[in-house]
Amino acid sequence: MLDFNALISTTMTDTLTLNEQVLKQINSQIANQLNTGVLVLDADFNIVIWNRFLQVHTDKIAKNTLGQSIFSAFPELPERWLSRKFSSVFQLNTPSFCSWEQRHHLFELPHTRPITTDSEFMAQNCTFLPIETDCKSKYICILIEDVTDVCHYQTKLQKTLAELAQISRIDGLTQIYNRRHWQESLEQEYAKARRHDKKLSLIMLDLDYFKLLNDNYGHQCGDMVLIEVSALISSLLRVEDIFGRYGGEEFAIILPETALSGAIELAQRICNKIATKVLIYKDQAIKVTVSLGVAQLSVEESNYEELITLSDNALYQAKALGRNQVCSADCSKSLLID
Ligand code: GH3
Ligand code: MG
Ligand code: MG
Repeated sequence: MLDFNALISTTMTDTLTLNEQVLKQINSQIANQLNTGVLVLDADFNIVIWNRFLQVHTDKIAKNTLGQSIFSAFPELPERWLSRKFSSVFQLNTPSFCSWEQRHHLFELPHTRPITTDSEFMAQNCTFLPIETDCKSKYICILIEDVTDVCHYQTKLQKTLAELAQISRIDGLTQIYNRRHWQESLEQEYAKARRHDKKLSLIMLDLDYFKLLNDNYGHQCGDMVLIEVSALISSLLRVEDIFGRYGGEEFAIILPETALSGAIELAQRICNKIATKVLIYKDQAIKVTVSLGVAQLSVEESNYEELITLSDNALYQAKALGRNQVCSADCSKSLLID
């Protein structure tokens, strides 16, 4: 088509042999049938060749564009960045590449997909090839590959993977962290606190007589209580606290950089808030209580599991002492000694 032939006829026809001419025609036709943009620039960045792909995907007319600087033909191009790119391709005489992940697109070519994408423009992989001719003139060839589909599906895949990663950390009923993620977080926080000699406390809490609540009001009411209690507790925590559902009606909170006294204070606040909260289920007022066990990192335990055991024991003591109360690992120890 167009300008390959034009270039051939204006610059080289006289000296071409028949075979060379045939060869040029073949090259020209290949370039024009490629589903890739082909642009050739001279050393002053003026356009000397462009193929049918660009004709189809721009509203520009080839004969108006040939001979123009690429930066006036495509004013959207990042001139400084691209000039530096061209210069290095010329100087080093090696190809260079710009993927859609670095820059979604260089040329504002509308995409023609019947899909809704994040950008109205075609996502592009651009390759910059140095071209040296017999007459020592230097050119640069830009190949523009349409990767709109790759970009679209890759972006969708990344979003889906991020959503899946989030879902895999979250408990479906209460929307707080599930046990697996909570426990992984504790392992990390434990290691961090040990390494930096920081404080760390843990609260384990369990709803009192929850089986009875399920029996009296039904499982759906029980579910509603779990959701409401989780939301209430979440509202009392700092952003750095890590709250998870440890089991059926048992919850756990990691409190980084918190001493035992601060953890007991928070546990007491949670205990009071829940005990005084009236929940409504099908016009019925429901009241629940929780028992809480608190422990803090000390020199004695050697792994995070021992910290869980300490707060679990304290929780057991809170249950044994009559429920709706807080017990700390210290108090459970002294109770055991007594
Ligand atoms: P305690 O005061 O000693 O903790 O008594 P409890 O009745 O709370 O403890 P128990 O372990 O006997 O019963 C826990 C109940 O929690 C039994 C189980 O059916 C219920 N449960 C566990 N997971 C869920 C859930 O997701 N939804 C509902 N509605 N109930 C649950
Ligand atoms: Mg219980
Ligand atoms: Mg329980």
